[in-house]
Amino acid sequence: MENNKSFLWPEGILIALLALGGVFSLAFMMLLRPNVSEAQSRQSINVKRIAAKVGTQQRIEKLKASMLTSWQQEAQTKGLSYAVPPRFQGAIVKAAKLTQSEKVIALTFDDGPWPETTEKVLDILKSNNIKGTFFVVGQNLKNYPELGKQIVTQGHVIGNHTWHHWYHFFNQQAAAFEIERTTDLIYQVTGAKTNLFRPPGGNLHNGLVAYAKGQKYSVVMWSADSIDYKLPSVPKLIDNVIKDSKPGGIVLMHDGGGNRSKTIQALPEIISNFRNQGYRFVTIPELLEMEDTEQKLLANKKQ
Ligand SMILES: [Zn+2]
Repeated sequence: MENNKSFLWPEGILIALLALGGVFSLAFMMLLRPNVSEAQSRQSINVKRIAAKVGTQQRIEKLKASMLTSWQQEAQTKGLSYAVPPRFQGAIVKAAKLTQSEKVIALTFDDGPWPETTEKVLDILKSNNIKGTFFVVGQNLKNYPELGKQIVTQGHVIGNHTWHHWYHFFNQQAAAFEIERTTDLIYQVTGAKTNLFRPPGGNLHNGLVAYAKGQKYSVVMWSADSIDYKLPSVPKLIDNVIKDSKPGGIVLMHDGGGNRSKTIQALPEIISNFRNQGYRFVTIPELLEMEDTEQKLLANKKQ
């Protein structure tokens, strides 16, 4: 019995120790558990934070995209992205061939933006409720961006007249620089994407027009030259414009590049003279659209 007892005693201790061990290990596990779950929750918070960051970025990108879309729509309704019919993309235009339509004429102004004179031309056009087309020189637009913005915000069309207004020969690379740098700046300053190009001096053979045609610009020439850069008398300037004008015509004048006082003086009279003849004033894209519509109608009739 004693032996048994002595045998049982350590057994009891063993059981007690095992029981204690069990309690400790349970307690230990209880202690550990919250740590594990805390770590898990921390991890999940981090995931949430990353997800939130990604979500915010996606939202910003979405917002940017929607803002750009609405801006583009707004720009298109305002006519800032000029729709030129395919037949005129990469083509040289001197006047619109209009046989059946009403009498229309397009006034164009080159070499600006220019201090004082561009604003004066804009004022005259505004008071007569006329939209014109301005072929700007890149470096002038760089110097007078506010005037460039005014041209577009007042509803006129803006076109490309190269960066430097140089007359020499341009290789492909130099022509790209002259033209694309100007188109880019026009877009940056005004938001207008132009696909209208007018070569300085009307030179069709010095590499610029070849490049512009390759890039699908409409090369816009003219059918009536005011020769205002030679500073003729005001009556002579008016006569230069009127004598060569016919429906669908394009009139060349200058708002920049030098003394344009004669042009400013002649412009109101030129406008009233055209109005008295029954002319309506249109922009170059409007003029091209009219010819395109007429050509399509004629093609349908022939079929
Ligand atoms: Zn010019």
